[in-house]
Amino acid sequence: MATKPLIGQTKMLIGGEFVAGESTPLEVLNPATGEVLTRVPEASLEQVKAAVTAADRAFAEWSQTTPKDRSLLLLKLADKIEEHAEEFARLESLNCGKPYQAVLNDEIPAIADCFRFFAGAARTMTGAVAGEYLAGHTSLIRRDPIGVVVSIAPWNYPLMMAAWKLAPVLAAGNTSVIKPSEQTPLTTLRLAEFLAELFPAGVVNVVTGMGETVGAALIHQPQVRMISLTGDVATGKRVLEAASQSLKRTHLELGGKAPVIVMDDADLEAAVQGIRVFGYYNAGQDCTAACRVYAGAKIYDKFVAELSDAVKGIKVGSQNEDGVEMGPLITERQRSRVASFVERAKMQRHIEVTAGGHPVEGRGFFYQPTVVAGALQDDEIVRREVFGPVVSVTRFKDTEEAIAWANDSDYGLASSVWTQDVGKAMRIASRLQYGCTWINTHFMLVNEMPHGGLKQSGYGKDMSMYALEDYTVVRHVMVRH
Ligand code: NAD
Repeated sequence: MATKPLIGQTKMLIGGEFVAGESTPLEVLNPATGEVLTRVPEASLEQVKAAVTAADRAFAEWSQTTPKDRSLLLLKLADKIEEHAEEFARLESLNCGKPYQAVLNDEIPAIADCFRFFAGAARTMTGAVAGEYLAGHTSLIRRDPIGVVVSIAPWNYPLMMAAWKLAPVLAAGNTSVIKPSEQTPLTTLRLAEFLAELFPAGVVNVVTGMGETVGAALIHQPQVRMISLTGDVATGKRVLEAASQSLKRTHLELGGKAPVIVMDDADLEAAVQGIRVFGYYNAGQDCTAACRVYAGAKIYDKFVAELSDAVKGIKVGSQNEDGVEMGPLITERQRSRVASFVERAKMQRHIEVTAGGHPVEGRGFFYQPTVVAGALQDDEIVRREVFGPVVSVTRFKDTEEAIAWANDSDYGLASSVWTQDVGKAMRIASRLQYGCTWINTHFMLVNEMPHGGLKQSGYGKDMSMYALEDYTVVRHVMVRH
């Protein structure tokens, strides 16, 4: 049997057909080398309109399918992903620079499970009871699909974001136009082949192109009922402004700057190992990355020393190197952004870079895993999202100060508390203003539980029954007897 070339599909899926682009194609790079892997289309305005029209046409029939029928298709899609796990993992790691083994073992199983979870969830939605709330009348609540949902995804976990966005949208009976990031479209385009094989034409459409052009054009189409974005806070604001012109529903998963409170009574070794993994996973390009540590005054010095040693041991390298733990950043631009944060931090006299602090020489967009110690609450490195392998450490004197500083942020996505006192952990968790608080761990996600932010990290939930609710509308039907 001939093996499929790794970079297979580069055409867009519109109305069940794979179509080439009509504007100047976009280069897709391998971040580990900087080389051009392939080119993908920049969709024209006509193609954007065609994709939305196809989704709108498909809605009439798709929205009337039974949850069971939709569920069966989602299960088949999950099987396809699992059957092609190695191919998807190779493609994703090539396009993102991620270690291949991490994609294969961490991401692909969670992606298949996401489709399976929503296959089940579609059939088990619950809600308010029907009843006679006015004499002689029966009222009941329906949860119906919304219509055409436009999903716009970021580059850090391309296939996972496609799963988080498509699975609940389709399970609920909506139709979709998804735009992957212009930097990492390859696995979504490969997924499109299976979507085309399994789902009726037009139910899912995949278009590629830049955010300012293709993304913006999608939002403005009149048949679109909802926009779901995972991306930067600034992009979220632009999307919200554009959506407000026609009052479209929005679902925004934006940035993060996760506080990590390490109490004096924490299991220090576990905290160090945890932050070594969860601060640098995906080269720190993760909206939940354990990047803003507050360490208790008593353990601060030991913690910084041990974390710095541990971080120096992270193996940085390209996708298929033996034992590689961390890959490059996504682009040269992202690397210089990260480097400039660290350079500005270094200019503060109270700050000491105790690990890393420099770009890695040679090909690709690598940056050393970095620890910035001695950071103060008002420092830029503590307040702004770096989105790279950089963890700041700030000393706190008591619990009140740690909680106040943790909450003193524009972001509200994820947080963690490290302590051996369960009561203390629960008290702190109850006061943190974050969509998620982990205790003695960080970063762990399960498809049954919601993921989403507060404050400028956005609103709306991915994964869990809450996502299914987000992609449906509540309707009241009343019958006069
Ligand atoms: P980005 O905002 O630059 O791009 C995200 C997507 O939006 C891309 O597909 C892009 O083409 C599109 N886009 C950009 N401008 C647009 C516009 N004006 N109109 C419509 N679409 C537009 O983000 P990124 O750099 O790809 O990803 C990194 C960001 O994503 C980080 O801030 C990170 O925290 C955030 N993120 C959040 C979560 C979460 O769950 N909250 C998950 C992953 C990433």
